[in-house]
Amino acid sequence: MAEEKMLAIISVSDKTGLIPLAEGLVSAGLTLVASGGTAKTIRDNGIDVHDVADITKFPEMLGGRVKTLHPAVHGGILARDSESDRKDLEKHNISFVSVVVCNLYPFKKTVQSSNCSLEEAVENIDIGGVTLLRAAAKNHERVSVICDPADYDHIISELKSGGTSRERRQLLALKAFEHTTSYDESISGFMRRRFAGNGERALPLRYGTNPHQKDDAELYIVEDEMPIKVLNGSPGYINILDGLNGWQLVKELSDATKMPAAASFKHVSPAGAAIGLPLNETESACCMVSDLPIDTKKPSLAAAYARARGADRMSSFGDFIALSEKCDELTAKIINREVSDGVVAPDYDPAALSLLAKKKNGNYCVLKINPNYLPSETEERTVFGLRLRQKRNNAVINAETFTNVVGKENGMNKQAVDDLIVATIALKYAQSNSVCFAHRGQVIGMGAGQQSRIHCTRLAGDKAMNWWLRQHPTVLSLPWKNAIKRSEKSNAIDVLCSGVLGSEVSFLSFLPSKHLLNLKIFLQIAIDQWQQYFNEPVEPLAEVREERKQWLSQQTGVVMSSDAFLPFRDNVDCAKQFGVSYVAHPGGSVRDEEIKEACDEHGITLIHTGLRLFHH
Ligand code: 5GP
Repeated sequence: MAEEKMLAIISVSDKTGLIPLAEGLVSAGLTLVASGGTAKTIRDNGIDVHDVADITKFPEMLGGRVKTLHPAVHGGILARDSESDRKDLEKHNISFVSVVVCNLYPFKKTVQSSNCSLEEAVENIDIGGVTLLRAAAKNHERVSVICDPADYDHIISELKSGGTSRERRQLLALKAFEHTTSYDESISGFMRRRFAGNGERALPLRYGTNPHQKDDAELYIVEDEMPIKVLNGSPGYINILDGLNGWQLVKELSDATKMPAAASFKHVSPAGAAIGLPLNETESACCMVSDLPIDTKKPSLAAAYARARGADRMSSFGDFIALSEKCDELTAKIINREVSDGVVAPDYDPAALSLLAKKKNGNYCVLKINPNYLPSETEERTVFGLRLRQKRNNAVINAETFTNVVGKENGMNKQAVDDLIVATIALKYAQSNSVCFAHRGQVIGMGAGQQSRIHCTRLAGDKAMNWWLRQHPTVLSLPWKNAIKRSEKSNAIDVLCSGVLGSEVSFLSFLPSKHLLNLKIFLQIAIDQWQQYFNEPVEPLAEVREERKQWLSQQTGVVMSSDAFLPFRDNVDCAKQFGVSYVAHPGGSVRDEEIKEACDEHGITLIHTGLRLFHH
């Protein structure tokens, strides 16, 4: 083969470094063949080059649409170094091509210009160049394919000193396929927006995570129909994250319990999630739905959302809601009077939709999701320009997940199992680390996004305590002034239950007395402000510590689930303070025995799930 004429085909849009490259290829013993504009640039610089037409005996045609698409070119590239391929080439008088240099029409740059017409974009879809690259990359066993001007220098020096190595050609082939893939992605992205951007495949988003991340914000799907339809409003990036996580949560929850389910998301974690167990009188009052005709006998979607929203009313302010089934008018009525950003559900009753569509001056985001949509088994994301890929977390959580009781069993029952399902599925979609407390079919304390597990447990406990205290007669009979908004009530109740009012400052007694005095004056001002919500003075709960403690000690039967193993017994000791009777965690800690002893000591039933559920 040494005496044979070896061709280098060059066809580049970006002509950076072209002349030194052409000189290098010639001095490496290659004969140059180039397409129109490329050949002209080379020739104008006094270097010998053939036109493609010299080997195809065909002129470039259709205004440049067909330049290199010819067996004389592709036969030369694709031929293997075998007897039979060699014979074919000889028969048709075709020379072997051993180097292909090609970069593609600037499609991306062209379509970025705001006034780019469809015709202009279409003309910038490179056909022959992609074929050159793919053919050469396929035949990398013999052919070096160069698509990046940054590779010119070192490839030339390798060619001059005996040829490229197989490893080098393999890497060049990979690069060429990445180049054509990214090129095709730009084309399909452009077409998706132009031809299916009305929601069939792509949805423009209001903006990305922040308002300054406006350009290019979109939701799209490849090779499938978009499972989401926007019925009202215009979703933003975080709405979609909340909606997609929330939908998975409620779907799994209702599949596992055969009950309607709802979730109230904030910042990509559930503030509340629940199944639709009928509410008792106290729960109705606590969830601020006593005035609505929610079924007191049968599970309902309305009860599920009332519970999900009621779990942590303060955190749920401005939530994104997910509902496992068709949104009925009653559920829409509950949503309608809360401050909320949007909702996703498989469908809406007309009366429900018309209520929701009027919310937020007509801008309330209402998404309809296809309940039969199944995502692919792998998922991908890009962080800092790098792509991460993994198998989806398709772990199924149901009653079977909680059968491995470790240590003393203190009475498992159907309600405890349902609550464990609620808590654990909620964790699956909460930012880790996370610990979740649940009771009577609903989350009552979500401790998410903490770096240490005990902080998750304390946070979950704190929120559960808040849930209990909100059921205290003092709270339920607060003498509200007229016209106090629901959200203001939630905030004022939270202040009362959190114990930040009053003289409960003994834990700060290490402060110098001057500072302590300032703090007391500050707290006094806070109380005075707080009292303005009421028609008559209210005794802060913090002032009646004993009563508060007594009230909390009545609470039992709570379940706690943890997204990873409990590393120390302090989590169990802490949980006990908040009425936890069942603890589920994956197990596998070196201190499993210590955890078991702590549970036995406190009369807590301990379950190992064997399932770690980190979520980020
Ligand atoms: P030139 O400036 O040499 O006329 O054109 C170079 C460009 O043409 C390169 O970007 C190359 O990818 C592209 N190209 C090469 N062969 C063909 C072909 O047969 N059809 C089309 N449409 N483009 C080609």
